[in-house]
Amino acid sequence: MKTAFIGIDLQNDFIKKDGALPVPNAENIVNNVNNLIAKAINTKHDLLLTCDLHDNDDEEFNIFPPHCIAESEGAFFITDLKGIALHYATSFSKSTHDIFDEKNGNSNFKEYLYNNKITTCIVFGVATDICVKAAVLGILKRGMQVILVEDACAGLDKTDEAIGEMVEEGAVLTSTEAICI
Ligand SMILES: [Zn+2]
Repeated sequence: MKTAFIGIDLQNDFIKKDGALPVPNAENIVNNVNNLIAKAINTKHDLLLTCDLHDNDDEEFNIFPPHCIAESEGAFFITDLKGIALHYATSFSKSTHDIFDEKNGNSNFKEYLYNNKITTCIVFGVATDICVKAAVLGILKRGMQVILVEDACAGLDKTDEAIGEMVEEGAVLTSTEAICI
């Protein structure tokens, strides 16, 4: 049994109210995210961070407003993550919502989970109904357990539906407090 903490897309454009593609209420999860990350570091668990990253003219901007453009402030991890957390974490960039996507995801993420024999993933971040859901379903599909920290996630508009879908596929819901005890 080996557990990893996985933070999804904790970047300025998604988390900050004035970001390019703000997720409603995302600023409210920052405290919980900080607590989870501190827990991961203090208990010496693996910490993986995904990161959405696009070129100026990315085709995803046909669907979503431009966001997380490489080198821009909006693409950076939220400032709470600077310093020790970023030093400690392993990050994985992708240019589509699904980290497991063959073409625009990041195969290093999957390799990391396999190579480090991760059996359980504690997942949190944004957006619940898009990137979090894709990561969770991808992890479950590969035979690992998922514990979704519901109060450290924020979604766009289909949050409840997405949570229902993840639970149906085997994800277990928990709270930040339960993890950080
Ligand atoms: Zn994107």
